[in-house]
Amino acid sequence: MTATVDLAAIRHNAGVLRERAGGADVMAIIKADAYGHGVRPVARAAHEAGIRHYGVARLPEGIHLREDGHRGRILVLGAPAAAQLPRYAEYDLDLTVPSAEVAAAVVRHASPNAPLRVHVTVDTGMGRLGLAPDDVPAVMARLADAPGVRLAGLWTHFATADAPGSSFAKTQLDRFRAVVDAVDVDVEHVHAANTGALLTLGEPAYEFEASLVRSGIALYGLAATPELSARLDLRPAMRLTARVTHLKTVSAGTPVSYGAEWQAPRRTRIATLGVGYGDGYPRRCCGRASVRVGGALCPIVGTICMDMCMVNLGPPDKAPATRVDRGDEAVLFGPAGPTVYDVAQWADTIPYEILCGVSPRVPRRHVNCADGALARAAQSAAPRV
Ligand SMILES: *Cc1c(COP(=O)(O)O)cnc(C)c1O
Repeated sequence: MTATVDLAAIRHNAGVLRERAGGADVMAIIKADAYGHGVRPVARAAHEAGIRHYGVARLPEGIHLREDGHRGRILVLGAPAAAQLPRYAEYDLDLTVPSAEVAAAVVRHASPNAPLRVHVTVDTGMGRLGLAPDDVPAVMARLADAPGVRLAGLWTHFATADAPGSSFAKTQLDRFRAVVDAVDVDVEHVHAANTGALLTLGEPAYEFEASLVRSGIALYGLAATPELSARLDLRPAMRLTARVTHLKTVSAGTPVSYGAEWQAPRRTRIATLGVGYGDGYPRRCCGRASVRVGGALCPIVGTICMDMCMVNLGPPDKAPATRVDRGDEAVLFGPAGPTVYDVAQWADTIPYEILCGVSPRVPRRHVNCADGALARAAQSAAPRV
């Protein structure tokens, strides 16, 4: 099986995001191997599209990018351990200060020879990382006075920005604005918006001076819901395909897969695909999911195994069964459907988890498709490289 990633779509989405963000810069969020898309080629594509700010979750992700020769600013969004601080200086990575304790450690470690660039984060309602709003001005003042410390950012994160009209997101934004107003030291960037806030709150979420929009999911052509992603001209960048590894015709009553929970209701053509939950295709999709094969949407039947699953092609003497051969490609998800949203719904989860869940054993094939070609290459044809 293969995850085909269209870097032209990544560049297109980056351009769309930059345009929507207006005067704010886009920080491309490329944590978790760029949401499963492959961080090295995605970072390069984003750079080609003019993006100069990057966000990752953990220190090793930032180090990996630097070792690959990646230039541009890289912010590690997660909380640093005190022992890691020298590595931030060594690899020129921006760090997150989520507490007074980390601020104190930064003041101790920073020196004019090994400066640390810090982004102070404030918890306005996400309840995850960050200083209490009232504690921010004093911590910022202390950092501003410390030799070798550069105040690169002040930021917060929304809990409900994916929901259009969320009053809690507006409350968070009001709290953040009050913090920004209360701070009287210079800070390079002020940032709050993720993809959801860009799409639902709009400009008020990024109209701070020298603001950034931290966007991840939209870079990959999606949002939390299809309704949200339709607000921008985005192109889904990943297509997950698997080969038909075996074909057979079974008689009525023949059980298929573990637990023998599904039996063929009549004479049926069954295709076995070389993809399973070991590749990140959720087992939870059993009994709900379809794949595109032989030019049709065909249901997955029986339990999804670790490395394989079975697909009902219908009556053996009719299409699509007559059109499917061993070695043909089936689409698990892609721009032409089923979509990542479909799979997320079948698995009772969010599109993010489907993308990040595509496991390391699935080869990533990076291509550059002409406009929308990944969508049109919905069936077995490989997209133009
Ligand atoms: C992951 C993350 C983002 C990106 O969120 P999207 O919804 O993918 O745009 C932004 N900010 C922080 C702090 C994050 O952890």
